[in-house]
Amino acid sequence: MHTQEDCLALDAADPLAPLREQFALPAGVTYLDGNSLGARPKAALQRSREVLEEEWGYGLIRSWNTAGWYDLPCRLGDKLAPLIGAAKGEVVITDSTSVNLFKALAAALKLQAENPATARRRTIITERDSFPTDIYMAQAIIEWLERGYRLELLESWDQLPQALDGDAAVVMLTHVNYRTGRMFDMRAVTAAAHEAGALMIWDLAHSAGAVEVDLQAAKADFAVGCTYKYLNGGPGSPAFIWVPQRHQDDFCQPLSGWWAHRQPFAMETSFHPAAGIRRALCGTQPIASLALVESGLDVHLQVPMAQLRAKSLALTDLFIELVERHCAGHGLELQTPRPHAQRGSHVSFSHPDGYALMQALIAQGVIGDYREPQVMRFGFTPLYTSYAEVWHAAQTLKRILEQGDYQRDAERGAVT
Ligand SMILES: *Cc1c(COP(=O)(O)O)cnc(C)c1O
Repeated sequence: MHTQEDCLALDAADPLAPLREQFALPAGVTYLDGNSLGARPKAALQRSREVLEEEWGYGLIRSWNTAGWYDLPCRLGDKLAPLIGAAKGEVVITDSTSVNLFKALAAALKLQAENPATARRRTIITERDSFPTDIYMAQAIIEWLERGYRLELLESWDQLPQALDGDAAVVMLTHVNYRTGRMFDMRAVTAAAHEAGALMIWDLAHSAGAVEVDLQAAKADFAVGCTYKYLNGGPGSPAFIWVPQRHQDDFCQPLSGWWAHRQPFAMETSFHPAAGIRRALCGTQPIASLALVESGLDVHLQVPMAQLRAKSLALTDLFIELVERHCAGHGLELQTPRPHAQRGSHVSFSHPDGYALMQALIAQGVIGDYREPQVMRFGFTPLYTSYAEVWHAAQTLKRILEQGDYQRDAERGAVT
């Protein structure tokens, strides 16, 4: 049972505590939404000045070479690689997660269609509780291809074994669920998909920079994910796509723009894909936004992922304990699994007035977010969240619940 003094003592003994200094966080705010938009690394401001003043302003077009703009998606992909268990040359940072998922799914279906052993398979398996964009992109591919593919939506994760039958072409899952924070066993699920003859695509939007990920050890087939959540890349910063070496020669994605061409400046009429991971690119990259991703990666690379994970679990354990103890009897229900192996880096509680409660919390400077139905999400970013803030968030929630005036606060919040 932790007291406020215990939380302060945990902060004093926390080897990661000094990292908070590297982030710009407004005074008076307890930021528990790094799972949706990570905080800004202080270095990103300086970096944006360099990019705008020197590279764009002075270097102009020369900067495609002199400032390394052309290679930036691959160079930053190589920096991200160790955080997700990938090798150099297997990751690029480009486009959005939705777009990258489209590429990965299309490439996976094509691989299966060209293999005589799997060519007749027509089922894409995902969860009904997947992040909606993943479902929409899969539905779009199915309609576009008109080859009789169908999407099987699992009602709960334990239905996967039955769903993995001889028609399963691709399994596409989010490693850490955006709503509940529940985490799949990447190795076991990938092995089960392969056993059934299906290919495995992972969405790492809530995993990259938050939990330990080892795509190579899991022998996954493809992966995509965000850089603006736990990787602190900035609002709408480009996402990533991972294609392991063993699939690269056969990786064929339909958004084959000139950046994926083996000789973009040969201006050939026909498309010939680049060797390696560059073939996952499409067109000209958003350099100003892409460049800022590096500032977030640089903070991450200062600490072993295992150490971040240990603190993340300590923070989420503490929050669950404090909310269950101090807010008992107010109708909150934990949505996040208690076993560490099944938990990402956020904690969700449902409450019939979840929306109003979250509005009241935000009005008091404790920023989490709300997801339908009834779910309040609290993201814990070990790079900059302190144990004292966990205490403060739980106490603020307790006060709001006890005072019971959050409905009125929510209405006021909606007007402003
Ligand atoms: C946040 C998130 C996305 C976001 O996709 P964008 O194309 O970057 O908007 C995709 N998938 C999951 C699981 C997410 O949590």
